[in-house]
Amino acid sequence: MSHPHESSAECLFCDIDAGVVPYAKVMEDATTLAFMDIDPGSDGHLLVIPKRHSADLLEISPEDSAVTTLTVDGDAIAARALILAAAL
Ligand SMILES: [Zn+2]
Repeated sequence: MSHPHESSAECLFCDIDAGVVPYAKVMEDATTLAFMDIDPGSDGHLLVIPKRHSADLLEISPEDSAVTTLTVDGDAIAARALILAAAL
């Protein structure tokens, strides 16, 4: 199976997407990946990335930016539900 990311010592997110670095996956689809931050700045810190590598926000394509935003919107609701469920 081909993978949009290649393992790279220079990009942690590509290594995460390639499965080289362990992580707690929350959600994955064809173009985006959502996972819990290894070193969270706050409880429930969720990271959502496009699978296609971008060096920074200026390099990301409009398409990847749009689909990532849609994933963030969906996952924010799911993450909130998980946090609420854990608090019960
Ligand atoms: Zn990358």
